[in-house]
Amino acid sequence: MTTAHRHFARIVAGLAAGVSLAACGGISQQQEVELGAQQAQQVSAQLPMLQDATINAYVNSLGNQLARTTSRADLDWHFAVVNTDVINAFALPGGYIYVNRGVLEQASNESEVASVLAHEIEHVVRRHSVKQMEQVNNANIGVALACTLTNVCNNQVAAAAIQVGGSAYFAKNSRADEVQADEGGFNTLVRAGINPRGMLTFFQKLLAEEQQNGGGNASSWFADHPGTEDRINDIQRMLNANASKLNGLRTDSQAFQTMKRRLNQLPPAPRAAGQ
Ligand SMILES: [Zn+2]
Repeated sequence: MTTAHRHFARIVAGLAAGVSLAACGGISQQQEVELGAQQAQQVSAQLPMLQDATINAYVNSLGNQLARTTSRADLDWHFAVVNTDVINAFALPGGYIYVNRGVLEQASNESEVASVLAHEIEHVVRRHSVKQMEQVNNANIGVALACTLTNVCNNQVAAAAIQVGGSAYFAKNSRADEVQADEGGFNTLVRAGINPRGMLTFFQKLLAEEQQNGGGNASSWFADHPGTEDRINDIQRMLNANASKLNGLRTDSQAFQTMKRRLNQLPPAPRAAGQ
């Protein structure tokens, strides 16, 4: 270990308060979970979280139904709602999934909300953000941790995160990651007994809004989820290929309708700067 490495290790240990990354090895599941837990603390401190028992219970129940069917069912999954109309969702390492209120408002049925959750769950199952952290060199990890785990970047982060729902800051997924998350999410929906057609109808709805209004509340979705038009074609192809499996899968539920009624009773979401 060089002096620079030792110095780096001390900085990381100091910043990460217990999350130590091996200089050359991969990030273990325990490290991933600790990192996610710390980032989740930052998110709840910096973003306006929706504190509503009915809605949080619904999103956690649906999210866990999906996550339990995946290869990472052993993780302790957490689902939360950010109180903003901006349509977006993001995932932190270790099983922390955030969906913005705008997604719940845009969704017409359970299949559409489940599609967004299943997509984000797949990013965690495939460890997309963890792999990014493993690939960048140590100096970059140090910067990322400094921003993520300390107050250094708080002001800019809070402003940016409210606008984009956080994902542009925490992880920039590649087009290949996005396609993988769609395809894995599609299979998760089927395993959970939910019709994946909501993935298609929700993306089509966002695309229509983008084309009509130049994005509006959906523009950050397109910034964070590249290649939406290609992805719609890919999802259509999967729907066609799996048509026989989809008969009888549920599209909606009583619980979804109860959640929507509760959503309509809430005061409007706070406006983010620049909206
Ligand atoms: Zn994604």
